[in-house]
Amino acid sequence: MMLTIAALFATSIFNTQPAARTRYPRSLAADSTTVILLGTGMPRPDPDASGPSAAVVVGSRVFLFDAGAGVMRRIAAAHLPINGVTAVFFTHLHSDHTLGYPDLIFTTWVMGRRAPMQAYGPHGLKSMTDDIIAAWNIDEDVRINGLEHEAPNGYAVDVHEIRPGVVYDSGGVRITAIPVLHGSLKEAYGYRIDTPTRSVVISGDTRPSAALIAAARNADVLVHEVYSAAKLQPEKRPGGSDWPLYMHQFHTSDVELGRIAAEAKPKLLVLTHIIRMGATDADLISGVRAGGFTGRVEVGHDLGRY
Ligand SMILES: [Zn+2]
Ligand SMILES: [Zn+2]
Repeated sequence: MMLTIAALFATSIFNTQPAARTRYPRSLAADSTTVILLGTGMPRPDPDASGPSAAVVVGSRVFLFDAGAGVMRRIAAAHLPINGVTAVFFTHLHSDHTLGYPDLIFTTWVMGRRAPMQAYGPHGLKSMTDDIIAAWNIDEDVRINGLEHEAPNGYAVDVHEIRPGVVYDSGGVRITAIPVLHGSLKEAYGYRIDTPTRSVVISGDTRPSAALIAAARNADVLVHEVYSAAKLQPEKRPGGSDWPLYMHQFHTSDVELGRIAAEAKPKLLVLTHIIRMGATDADLISGVRAGGFTGRVEVGHDLGRY
């Protein structure tokens, strides 16, 4: 009886690899391209909007952009493999974009990952990765040397600290890092993803940036961060008078985004990393329209597919 229960336990709870492999996206053509927003939130915790993360799924390959809080729950909810992605690309190292990184490293390992995870991002990503792996050393030791018998070093990460330009080019997918302007942060990127069937641009966190506009010209999908211009005002807290200045230097308003999209002319504009400050979806769309964009626009939501 004990053995039966143990066997059931092992297959139904911990041995999740077969399910992870078969659920998604077997039926898709090898070159089909789908954008799945995994998290559309920002630092303020919102049960309906996880930390920033987006997947670009090309056939059975999953390219992840940022890993905000909640990323593995959203990967599971999207029926993407829980035992590892093809590669993860970080736009910048702000905590709201990286809090899910330990989750991505360790949970994929415990769910069956064996090969090193490929991680791309700004300088500082290597030391962050080394520090995360060092911080969880008690977990690593007990899972490898205890009764779980996890693969030694299965949590490994190959870190690629990048510069602007093409950072990935394999099997018909080319990913280009675009330097963007995110306040006083030294290094922040947007990414352009060209696949056999579509072009997708992800802004990362940025104020209006000419390089991003150039990269997004005529893209199929532009996924861009946004805040509500109409709701922006000083906050009642120490230093809160600088809040509008901070937003102008670090982020892009809905009206500014309307101007950006009017110039770049993407076939579809998707809003993400939404700093609402009370704005509704309709408020954000009217901000984008006020900026001059007349094309297709959607306010992104977690697990939305585009
Ligand atoms: Zn952010
Ligand atoms: Zn940021």
